[in-house]
Amino acid sequence: IKNIGVLTSGGDSPGMNAAARAVVRTVLYEGGKVWGIYDGYRGLLDEKMEELTSRSVADILQRGGTFLGTARCKRFMTPEGRMEAYENMKKRGIEGLVVIGGDGSLRGASKLSAETGVPIVGLPGTIDNDVWGTDYTIGCDTAANTIIDAINKLRDTASAHSRIAVVEVMGRRCGWLATLAGIAGGAEVVLIPEREFDLDDVCANLVKSYENGRRYSLVVVAEGVGSGIDIGKYIEEKTQMDVRVSVLGHIQRGGSPTVQDRVKASQLGEKAALALMAGQTDVVFGFNKGKVVAINLHDAITNKKPLDPEYIELADMLV
Ligand code: ATP
Repeated sequence: IKNIGVLTSGGDSPGMNAAARAVVRTVLYEGGKVWGIYDGYRGLLDEKMEELTSRSVADILQRGGTFLGTARCKRFMTPEGRMEAYENMKKRGIEGLVVIGGDGSLRGASKLSAETGVPIVGLPGTIDNDVWGTDYTIGCDTAANTIIDAINKLRDTASAHSRIAVVEVMGRRCGWLATLAGIAGGAEVVLIPEREFDLDDVCANLVKSYENGRRYSLVVVAEGVGSGIDIGKYIEEKTQMDVRVSVLGHIQRGGSPTVQDRVKASQLGEKAALALMAGQTDVVFGFNKGKVVAINLHDAITNKKPLDPEYIELADMLV
């Protein structure tokens, strides 16, 4: 395959630009043609795509977001929509696609490939680190660092006022970001969807630790367990202590990607381009123990990624 398209889809994440840049430059280096498809699957349907040059991806490596734009597209959820997307690719001679996105985007990719036979390689692009088969997703490291930066600041003020700081972090149904924030941010409590908890026990432990001399506490709530605001209110009523809630929100999605996200996204982009040009399809590239690995696309979207129990234990042990 010599003529490929690249798109970013679903929630944006820092490092998507680095991945797309690597795809573009690898394809060009190998003598192929590459198309940028704008606003995810919607761009395939609205025919918002153009051939890219090496210069098209200049000056984006250091930026968060995605120069290709991203979107959620309802029409692509229907078989008719996907067929139209395929026809629009065919018109331009686009023979294969690199899809950079989260769970949902990879699901869409799998359907497009199954229904039309078009070769597709996926890259896990989401801050949530919730894609099965890979230890890493593009953007998770930058998001974790952004959370730690916020936690460091919240600690200063929580400590000054002897308060409980409750911080809600992203991650959808996955507690990876919250658990890492717990370990690297030194949280006393980490609430994640992967593990049941009793909020009354949490409150009792918080009171106990104050009685033992603790000046302030940090509680990290993964968005997957519920609203940080509601949980904060409950803790305040139950413990009668001073609680302040911070919902970090979309700040976690932005920012200049870390070195790790830039390097790993570049490695994945290169592999995706080479694989697609060599005729591979229905694979997702990710990392396992520091090495790039190919994951079956079907496996990646049908299995639920477990959270490493060693992380959970460590977060618990070090409070
Ligand atoms: P994030 O995890 O960051 O939210 P995501 O890729 O999971 O990213 P989604 O909104 O789930 O984000 O998916 C992005 C787009 O992919 C959807 O708007 C839709 O166009 C397509 N898509 C998602 N799920 C499917 C599906 N089951 N079948 C076909 N297309 C899908």
